Amino acid sequence: MDAMFQSTIEDLKHIHKFSDDELRILDAADAAAEELAVPEFEHYIKREYDPEAPAIAKKHGLFKVPIKKEYGGLGASPLVAALVKQRLGHLGMGFGSFYNVQVFLCSLALQRWGSDHLREKYLKPAANGDKVLAFGLTEPEHGSDPASLETNFEDNGSSYVINGTKYLISNGSVADAMIVFARSKSDKKISAFVVDTKTSGFSAMRMEEKIGLFTSDTAMPEFKDMEVPKENLLGELGKGLHVAYSSLLNGRMGIAAGCVGIIEQSLSAATQRARERFQHGKLIGKHQLIQKHIAEIRQNLEMARWPLYYAAIRKEQYDANPTDKELAREMDLRASLAKKIASRLAFESADRAVQIFGGFGYSLLSPVGPLFIDSRVTRIYEGSDEIQELKIASGVLGDDFRAFD
Ligand SMILES: Cc1cc2nc3c(=O)[nH]c(=O)nc-3n(C[C@H](O)[C@H](O)[C@H](O)COP(=O)(O)OP(=O)(O)OC[C@H]3O[C@@H](n4cnc5c(N)ncnc54)[C@H](O)[C@@H]3O)c2cc1C
Repeated sequence: MDAMFQSTIEDLKHIHKFSDDELRILDAADAAAEELAVPEFEHYIKREYDPEAPAIAKKHGLFKVPIKKEYGGLGASPLVAALVKQRLGHLGMGFGSFYNVQVFLCSLALQRWGSDHLREKYLKPAANGDKVLAFGLTEPEHGSDPASLETNFEDNGSSYVINGTKYLISNGSVADAMIVFARSKSDKKISAFVVDTKTSGFSAMRMEEKIGLFTSDTAMPEFKDMEVPKENLLGELGKGLHVAYSSLLNGRMGIAAGCVGIIEQSLSAATQRARERFQHGKLIGKHQLIQKHIAEIRQNLEMARWPLYYAAIRKEQYDANPTDKELAREMDLRASLAKKIASRLAFESADRAVQIFGGFGYSLLSPVGPLFIDSRVTRIYEGSDEIQELKIASGVLGDDFRAFD
């Protein structure tokens, strides 16, 4: 097992007794990450989507991790799910983004809000790795403020008809199905739907101009008079934002976990380099200014991981009582704290690791260049730094001080 990941598990054993099943899941995550490293690297340097990764994750059962056993999952706790995502974070955020959307955003949303029909048709195959899912919330003119989205739907009697454009959607051009948020043309309320991407009226243009995150697919899907069966409504009609916000809470935990993985990988790559590279007649690790970078990354790891693990432990309570408003408020704050802290510290840690690598660090061929580029997006997607700060502030000040609805 990866030494850094093993030491995290050993640290956690002081406060959590892992069952044999949990340890098996963590072993599988480690084996999957090991196997994913080569294709992720090869596709990254070609700046292309990695089509091999989902099959590898499927082989190791990773899509099943937090899904209940009755839906074909492994029923793992939020803490174990976070650790799995953390191990994937060692690879950067390419496949990590695919995984976050597939599992943390979409599968958990289907588990919480889906009817038996939707769970059977989409959740079970997704958990088994047979269906790829995407989450279509953002639009060209509506990102941080999804409550203002414009994609619309109308009820034509036998089905819902969706029109509109989504933007920057991960897995958007490779997904079999997408959770789409749209506004009713009649009462203007937002609902969530699960749409099959093979349905006529759906198209998706891949967005190739990203500055990094190459192995993750990002697309601009369009819906033109796309008919969606009535049974594909997710959650209650008009309550789509409940689905969106609760999904984003799960998603933020996943992003925070991936960021802790980026910090771990930054630390282990930087440490190795500091122990091997000579300048001015000695190992660079013996220069005190390099030691400062290493000490800072190590501190970042400590500062990022405990808010995540605490949030994950609280999440177990919340999942058992999803209608408890106090717990929901507390969990929202915890997830925002975990994401805000971990994403900023992941970016800073990868930056310090690049500095230790010197010129080679500024290359996609180095183990730290992609971490630096990929960690940047974690401060933007699934709620930007600024949005997390506003949520943290209103969590402290109270709902009367919410900066936006
Ligand atoms: C690679 C990638 C993958 C993505 N994948 C998905 C996906 O799968 N599904 C999906 O739905 N979306 C996805 N997104 C979209 C992402 O969630 C949005 O980019 C993000 O929410 C920010 O929205 P925006 O880009 O429209 O920025 P804007 O909302 O325009 O924000 C611009 C700036 O203004 C700030 N700002 C906005 N409102 C406020 C405020 N009230 N107070 C202070 N500052 C504010 C923001 O923090 C930001 O700094 C993805 C984005 C990227 C880059």
